[in-house]
Amino acid sequence: MTSWKEILHNSVNSPSAIARHFNFDCTVLEATCTSFPMRINTYYLSLIKTVGDPIWKQAVPDILEEKDEVCILDPLGETALSPTPGIVHKYPDRVLFLVASECAMYCRFCTRKRMVGSKSMGINDASIENGIQYIHQNKNVREVLLSGGDPLLLSDQRLDSILGRLHAIPHLEVIRIGTRVPCTLPMRITKQLVNVLKKYHPLYINTHFNHPVELTQEAAKACTRLANAGIPLGCQTVLLKGINDDAKTLQKLFTGLLKIRVKPYYLFQGDLTKGTNHFRTHTSCGIKIIKELTGTVSGMAIPTFALDAPGGKGKIPLTPDYIITTGKELTFRNYCGEICSYPENGNPVL
Ligand SMILES: *Cc1c(COP(=O)(O)O)cnc(C)c1O
Ligand code: SF4
Repeated sequence: MTSWKEILHNSVNSPSAIARHFNFDCTVLEATCTSFPMRINTYYLSLIKTVGDPIWKQAVPDILEEKDEVCILDPLGETALSPTPGIVHKYPDRVLFLVASECAMYCRFCTRKRMVGSKSMGINDASIENGIQYIHQNKNVREVLLSGGDPLLLSDQRLDSILGRLHAIPHLEVIRIGTRVPCTLPMRITKQLVNVLKKYHPLYINTHFNHPVELTQEAAKACTRLANAGIPLGCQTVLLKGINDDAKTLQKLFTGLLKIRVKPYYLFQGDLTKGTNHFRTHTSCGIKIIKELTGTVSGMAIPTFALDAPGGKGKIPLTPDYIITTGKELTFRNYCGEICSYPENGNPVL
């Protein structure tokens, strides 16, 4: 079997190279990749069945990336919220810690498109050292979220060292890893890697699947291996125009994730990241989809639809409206649209 390193090494890195795999000439897109890097590893490439399908759209550059006049480079204000390079500290009890600059595949809609896959991300031994020190010194940080880039592209040894040092911080209660590897390079989830990860419980992993086509046997095997090591798995899906912006596709994705022991956690509204405007939907699209799924499918399969507010203002859940009136009695609509009520029995309104 081909190792994950070879699969990554053999990635398609330029639009012109796409022509060797599909009868489609992408040469005009070369300029796009000087602004935002391209990488499609051979596993993820094998999921593309036709030009322009939902896997293609996530991975292959589009001329529209260069034509985006609306969006900005750092929509979440991460630079301003960064006390030391690699740390983003927005909420009181948890910090985002960027520890890797590479990914197994560069998603065209990436929020950190301005820097992933490039040295400008500034991740090195010193930034990691300073990040760990920052967490040491901030006793109200209960949880660290390792992200990047993709933390699981680091070597087993490097991860072992970073996780070991974080785990030793007395006030740090939980480690969370954000990774797309179970979806885009599932072979990376080796027995050796899992043996490293399981030393650092409570460890959570949030992965990132966007389309049911990504739920392959290989992905199932990777997730099973992680779950069997006692790692709870969540999924952060991005709502993407023309890829997964309908209830049928997302129902298939979310119920399929549960089958491989992954709990859908967030469905994200697209961020205002430069070069990704063509993927954004109206916020009503996500709200409508959540409304259609609620009550119809298992509540376990339904994530929170959320918007990451511009300028680092935090994640805002966008939920369908069920409440009609409040007061002595709550009146509301149920999932079928019927009007129902619930008496408050004299309890005061808070
Ligand atoms: C999204 C995010 C988190 C995590 O938020 P949760 O709602 O706990 O998943 C933490 N820090 C930053 C900077 C974030 O963007
Ligand atoms: S895996 Fe995540 S960080 Fe990497 S390119 Fe995709 S969305 Fe961006």
